[in-house]
Amino acid sequence: MEKRVYNFSAGPAVLPLPALEIAQREMLSLPGVGMSVLEVSHRSGTFTKIIEAAEANLRKLLGIPDNYQVLFLQGGAQLQFAMIPMNLLGGKSADYILTGSWSKKALEQAQTQGKCRVAYDAKASNYNCIPQTSELDLDPNAAYVYYASNETIGGVQFPTEPEVGDVPLVCDASSDFLHKKVPVEKYGILYACAQKNIGPAGVTVVVIRDDLVAKSADGLAAMLSYKTMAEGKSLYNTPPCFAIYMVKLVTDWLLNDIGGLDKMYELNQRKAKLLYDVVDESDGFYTSHALPSCRSVMNVTFRLPNDDMNPTFLEQASQRGLETLKGHRSVGGFRASIYNAMPTEGVQLLADFMREFRDANK
Ligand SMILES: *Cc1c(COP(=O)(O)O)cnc(C)c1O
Repeated sequence: MEKRVYNFSAGPAVLPLPALEIAQREMLSLPGVGMSVLEVSHRSGTFTKIIEAAEANLRKLLGIPDNYQVLFLQGGAQLQFAMIPMNLLGGKSADYILTGSWSKKALEQAQTQGKCRVAYDAKASNYNCIPQTSELDLDPNAAYVYYASNETIGGVQFPTEPEVGDVPLVCDASSDFLHKKVPVEKYGILYACAQKNIGPAGVTVVVIRDDLVAKSADGLAAMLSYKTMAEGKSLYNTPPCFAIYMVKLVTDWLLNDIGGLDKMYELNQRKAKLLYDVVDESDGFYTSHALPSCRSVMNVTFRLPNDDMNPTFLEQASQRGLETLKGHRSVGGFRASIYNAMPTEGVQLLADFMREFRDANK
């Protein structure tokens, strides 16, 4: 095998090696089946077992209550930007908490479907922070309150769910789903595209409370309706079979190799601390975009004192097998995405390199 690098890409992103190895081994024939997962009917017993196992793993990892459905949908996170208001606005207005690029995009899409309010906007501080509950301007009659738990581009993350009373809470957890255990019962919808933390591009996991499925709009095109998708158990049409299979393998890894989400969170916190410590101990050589109280455990964003040094930083990192560290153009600098599957040793190598680079260039 060619040497694998440490891939800090924001998404599609690194996957656990054991999951990739199983997929490689089973690519020509699933055990006892004689066909690849790419070749079996989505209505076969073989695939039924795979999709049921993926759902069971998710239920076990997150402790998803029985009154929630787990849907495997297509169209990425951004189809949810539209499906959520389409299904749930019901003539009312929804509240949006804006903490960065993805929540802003979600609002724009929701506005194509109906009325929305901005309950909070971190624009004045260039989206480097997360609101306190007291800063939210909430409408008690809203159809739902929407937020993104982790802003992948800016690298800011909610330390805990915003308190929104009885209004259903809707969360885009695309870049931090399964990074720790969360109280699912606090959410109306918790959803994530797979390609950041739980699998390859092609599937989006939507965890949705039964009453919201029941309340979702009638008369929508079947493919855009939570009702159709829930009634069909995600098999109304052909689902993204391979992506669902990978989600099963990644969640097997979380359960069996890692030992669950509490263990995963411990590892994630340790990895993030390795990098933020370098930033904090650099005497201002490195600056982080996010305020310390809301720094993301998944996407670490930082800058050098002078952008002219950026190409050298990237080149020297690459020589050490540390790849795809360039930040998003809207934030600049660097972004180290250290999702569940990024090994601690990769993060340690990056931390060591950052210290060396500072000593050589300060
Ligand atoms: C990547 C990302 C998206 C967009 O996902 P697509 O599957 O490309 O639509 C949305 N929200 C967040 C938080 C993301 O990180």
